[in-house]
Amino acid sequence: MAKTKHIVIVGAGPGGLCAGMLLSQRGFKVSLFDKNPEVGGRNRPIHLDQFVFDTGPTFLLMKNVLDEMFELCGKKSEDYLDFVKLDPMYQLLFGDRAVNVYSDHDKMRAELQSKFAEGSAGFDRYLDKEGNRFRKLYPCIKRDYTSLTSFLSWDLIRALPHLALNHSVFSNLGKYFREEKMRLVFSFQSKYLGMSPWECPALFTMLSYLEHEYGIYHVQGGLNKIAEAMGKVIVEQGGEIFTNSPVASLVIENKVVKGVRLEDGTQIDADEVIVNADFAHAMTHLVEPGVLTQHSPENLKKKQYSCSTFMMYLGLNTRYDIPHHNIVFAHDYTTNITNIFNKKILSDDFSFYVQNASVTDPTLAPEGQSALYVLVPMPNNQSAIDWDETCARMREQVLDAMAARLGMADIRKQILCEKIITPKTWETDENVFMGATFSLAHKFSQMLYWRPRNKFQELDSCYLVGGGTHPGSGLPTIYESARISTKLICRKYGVNIQEPNRSTWM
Ligand SMILES: Cc1cc2nc3c(=O)[nH]c(=O)nc-3n(C[C@H](O)[C@H](O)[C@H](O)COP(=O)(O)OP(=O)(O)OC[C@H]3O[C@@H](n4cnc5c(N)ncnc54)[C@H](O)[C@@H]3O)c2cc1C
Repeated sequence: MAKTKHIVIVGAGPGGLCAGMLLSQRGFKVSLFDKNPEVGGRNRPIHLDQFVFDTGPTFLLMKNVLDEMFELCGKKSEDYLDFVKLDPMYQLLFGDRAVNVYSDHDKMRAELQSKFAEGSAGFDRYLDKEGNRFRKLYPCIKRDYTSLTSFLSWDLIRALPHLALNHSVFSNLGKYFREEKMRLVFSFQSKYLGMSPWECPALFTMLSYLEHEYGIYHVQGGLNKIAEAMGKVIVEQGGEIFTNSPVASLVIENKVVKGVRLEDGTQIDADEVIVNADFAHAMTHLVEPGVLTQHSPENLKKKQYSCSTFMMYLGLNTRYDIPHHNIVFAHDYTTNITNIFNKKILSDDFSFYVQNASVTDPTLAPEGQSALYVLVPMPNNQSAIDWDETCARMREQVLDAMAARLGMADIRKQILCEKIITPKTWETDENVFMGATFSLAHKFSQMLYWRPRNKFQELDSCYLVGGGTHPGSGLPTIYESARISTKLICRKYGVNIQEPNRSTWM
């Protein structure tokens, strides 16, 4: 049955690739179309001269989920990818102290003991309680919420007491830790979802828990190698990937998606279409106005979106002696957060993240040189910031901040090549709605049953994968979105999708 069914996937980002891998293994005829010359979307490489950078993801969390996706195809991720577990995972730089964060619990206890007056007393309680919460919540993350009956499940009922609905990540951490900076060590991860720790629902305390319990991985060559590997598996299994092939529109008849029309005019017929392109971008650009009601362009504009990012990719003629991942906190962190999320204005004193992956990975730059990745959280394009006018000034401010906070006094002299992505170019060049790099905000009214559903509620034969659908942004959850949509398609055509004989890693 599957062999006669054609699945077209719009976008070869992590969600589209993972769905393509799972479906082609199950015998479906799979065709992916991406506008870019390479697969991976925000997870693709940037090549500048002899330097290689990841465009977006640099932290691989929950490697086990990725492993499961390969297992579901009868493969081993290690046969395709060279993983490096990082410990220390990252360095946090506050104005008055540097904290190394370890996934080794003894080392982490010792670090907290030496850097914070309250010591490590709360750490074990945090691991215990947040571990328990994660084990209750994860089954809910893996479910589909395409109908009220699938929403009202035992998994969800069991998880309800653990949702801590009236708490944010920051306030939840008050149960374990007193000092503000201590709480920031375990709550800044809300930024992985492009959210403020003061607004991000408490259940996402699981993000820092997952780091401490399962570690953070780098992949030699960059995390973009994961996308490349998934593309390879698709082709090995008989699927097709068409790059440089932008989709102009979904072909829709009576609210049923029948295929896609490419920008060159070619129509590709499909039995099912999976949309991996950024959800709000796709629904505002690939669907004629008037077709959608709940997700009309007017309604999509009213939703809440994640922050955006100002990115600098620097090919350097030196290698600085700083760790692989560095998170530098604004001196006044709360004002910076308020400026990004509430006021939507720029801050002179800002937090930023620098990845110096060349200390781990010699493949990214020539010997003695390095590929430096810089990410500065910014308001999304619901702000009134003119990025054509602001970009050059922001570059100088970021380089000054790197000199002052990371000891890179001569950084300007070391730059051999560079690329910048602004909130504006995330939207214009990368097709990211509002430049909101982490998609729709993860607040309760935009999660689970209330997030655009994996089987899209407004169109038949249309499924969603990626950060804009359930479970949400971040590589492991995006792979889960692909698993959920794949299962729904398999169920429709009576195809068996065998789960690996575990999630014993939980
Ligand atoms: C700067 C940054 C840092 C991040 N860091 C991390 C991290 O460290 N760890 C983590 O787990 N996650 C991280 N993320 C979040 C998330 O994992 C990535 O954004 C991820 O790439 C999103 O995957 P996706 O499948 O939703 O879509 P995308 O990666 O956006 O892929 C969508 C694809 O659709 C294609 N497309 C769009 N329109 C069309 C069209 N009309 N026709 C054809 N193709 C089209 C695009 O070219 C793209 O290839 C980060 C994101 C960003 C932006």
